[in-house]
Amino acid sequence: MKTVDVAPEKLIDGKAVAGRIMKDLEAEIRSFSAGGRPPRLSVIIVGENPASQVYVGMKVKKAAACGIDSDLIELPADTPEELLLERIDRLNSDRGVDGILVQMPLPGHLDQQKVIERISPSKDVDGFHPCNLGRLAADKPLFISCTPLGITVLLSEYRVRTEGKNVVVAGRSLIVGKPMALLLASRGKTGNATVTICHSKTENLPAVTRTADILIAAIGIPEIIKGDMVREGAVVIDVGTSRIEDPGSKKGYRIAGDVEFDSVYPRASLITPVPGGVGPMTVAMLMKNTLQAAVLARGESDAQR
Ligand code: NAP
Repeated sequence: MKTVDVAPEKLIDGKAVAGRIMKDLEAEIRSFSAGGRPPRLSVIIVGENPASQVYVGMKVKKAAACGIDSDLIELPADTPEELLLERIDRLNSDRGVDGILVQMPLPGHLDQQKVIERISPSKDVDGFHPCNLGRLAADKPLFISCTPLGITVLLSEYRVRTEGKNVVVAGRSLIVGKPMALLLASRGKTGNATVTICHSKTENLPAVTRTADILIAAIGIPEIIKGDMVREGAVVIDVGTSRIEDPGSKKGYRIAGDVEFDSVYPRASLITPVPGGVGPMTVAMLMKNTLQAAVLARGESDAQR
């Protein structure tokens, strides 16, 4: 919870950057659509997880705002795995669909990894498929996971140099931590960093995070990163998005990051807020990836003619 006075120049305003990207995308998509149909994104949600419903609602709304057609496929929580996989197969073979997204997490009886692997890598606009993660590791990226991709764009927008810097990525998930570490360690403008990855078995997390010129927190434990875990002048990127009960708020909950803002803010040179930091960039990158998928699909269909 923010109670400190915040100087705008120390805040990384993901909402504003994402807004500019969406505007540019809107123009690109308009010109793409003039040459045929607009890009199309299919979004599948299984069950009624309230946070997931908010996320898919936002994705569908943002898609419409930038000219992407989308359809929201809502399946009941007890959907059998085979049925979900069949649905994905149909979307994979539908030439009118460019991007497929299955909102995570899935109900417990469904194997998330199996579902991810069923999506055609050429329509995997979330960038979660092992082929896409492998391509990133091999320096031949196709679709890059939206959150890490958005973070590299934010770092670049705020002219944060990564080359030669010590970056600590806290979290090693396949959708955030790992692709983030790969991107930052890769050659290129937003790479060339010396990257350390932390996880639940890391001994003495504070000692490691204190070595970071750039600290990326993607753990999912509210406010686990305290001020004394951060080096003076570090750039702090907070990926964490946890709902915590807050009887004082209208909704009865608030969204908390992994970073304890009040104690970390005074030490950081730049910091992302939650909300309004990484989240909006994730959605903008999803739209960018969907356009990329549509461009690829049109190229392939032109080549077949
Ligand atoms: P995840 O799959 O649960 O991964 C969490 C990672 O944190 C794991 O690698 C885990 O280690 C590590 N970890 C757990 N406890 C730790 C500890 N005490 N010290 C150090 N590392 C620890 O989560 P995720 O999908 O990567 O998401 C992380 C957070 O980001 C969540 O809050 C999620 O909601 C949020 N998120 C936000 C966005 C956005 O757009 N803003 C997008 C995606 C995710 P092990 O590997 O050892 O288990």
